[in-house]
Amino acid sequence: MQPMQKLSPTLYSQRTAIGDTLNNVGQEVVLQGWVATKRDHGKITFIDLRDRTGTIQCVGFKMMGELTTESVVSLVGLVKERPERMVNKDVPTGSVEIEVISYEVLNKAKELPIQVDTDGKEINEEVRLRYRYLDLRRERMRNTMKLRSDIAYEFRQALRDEKFTEVETPMLTKSTKEGSRDFVVPSRFQPGKFYALPQSPQQYKQLLMTAGIERYFQFARCIRDEDLRADRGFEHTQIDLEMSFVDQEMLMKTVEGLVKRAVSAVGGKMKQDPFPVVEYKDAMEKYGEDRFDLRTEEDKANNVLAFAWVVKFPFFKHVDKSDAAEVADGKSGWTFTHNPFSTPLPEHLEDHLAGKNIADIVTSQYDLVCNGYEVGGGSIRAHNPEVLKATFKIMGYTDEEIQASVGHMLEAFEVGTPPHGGIALGLDRFVMLLAGETSLKEAIAFPMTSSGRTSVMDAPNEIDESQLKELGIAIKPKK
Ligand code: ASP
Repeated sequence: MQPMQKLSPTLYSQRTAIGDTLNNVGQEVVLQGWVATKRDHGKITFIDLRDRTGTIQCVGFKMMGELTTESVVSLVGLVKERPERMVNKDVPTGSVEIEVISYEVLNKAKELPIQVDTDGKEINEEVRLRYRYLDLRRERMRNTMKLRSDIAYEFRQALRDEKFTEVETPMLTKSTKEGSRDFVVPSRFQPGKFYALPQSPQQYKQLLMTAGIERYFQFARCIRDEDLRADRGFEHTQIDLEMSFVDQEMLMKTVEGLVKRAVSAVGGKMKQDPFPVVEYKDAMEKYGEDRFDLRTEEDKANNVLAFAWVVKFPFFKHVDKSDAAEVADGKSGWTFTHNPFSTPLPEHLEDHLAGKNIADIVTSQYDLVCNGYEVGGGSIRAHNPEVLKATFKIMGYTDEEIQASVGHMLEAFEVGTPPHGGIALGLDRFVMLLAGETSLKEAIAFPMTSSGRTSVMDAPNEIDESQLKELGIAIKPKK
């Protein structure tokens, strides 16, 4: 038999998680974590040690006085039951404490630029994001990151059980027409040419239906050069899916099942089952908007999620001349309201193909709304080349322009593409709502600031003259 190894603060393999210390009463343990608080009484020093599983009070006799809060330490200590009157009912480990035998500082913390033991909302946002690695240490943020991981896991499980296949699609691609400006990336091999970052995997996921995948999903990063708002950044993550051989009803039913399963698995409470289905024009009449909030005050207090479907949107709208992306797409003065790859409802197909009664054409789009936010949107797609061509004709594209823009899709629609449809669910928004937050930034580890700068690392920034030269790019001096 091997002799028992003596516990040492630097042996990571001997570590006990703070949440498990209750199982070790009367024994020596090795704990590693951060000094959350320190109370120094000279001869005796108390610290609360924190790791990902919790915090615990540690007592040092004539030691630990030097420790600074938020330093990383490792210690060996004895787990002791506290006398009845000393039990702290507010923390799970409150019935025990650690009598420290020895310790080592693994990383000493200077005075921190922001506090991490509050909920953080009192701190200026730019400062929080500049020091996001500290900001994420606060309990509220750690809980939200865990929730995000949990709901992603539950969706993935549910999708796999429904026989969806996870497929990744390219990040360097061509304009994807989601109605926003593209972010572009210059090509070094072909100076003067550019890739676009995907606004969504829309076209690739449809091509996967041509490829016979039948049921696709992806946790897709989507990048859109939007005007920044509290509930929107340049990047977002969507649970993107597409299915073949489905009609609108089947698709909505499948998605509703996935949402219910994932949301309840993480403890979310939903108002109505099944989700109500509201027509766009009724929503506008009744609520004045298509992202309505069905909650009562009581629902709000209980963080209930009020999901509803919105259907029967107009396919086209007049171009908003102040929106560059709409102006580029809507050459005729008409542009799509949601998605140019959708098919109109069957009763509008004839008008659509003929380019008649444009304002009255209704698309197969369905949006999922929750608590006043759009949390998902999708449609049954045009899988017949004539229908897709007609959409672009209505928007004023010439035959040549249609070929240049979506010729690859038209080709795919002539070699055996099944009827299909899909949806994208906004993961960031799901997390925000489940966590009871009101800003998307609270649901993302490293979000952008409201002025479009990256967390911690300061982008966008200039690049070297030599890099520009390689790319064949010259920057015009500012006027
Ligand atoms: N591509 C759409 C979007 O990102 C979603 C979809 O229609 O599936 O909004």
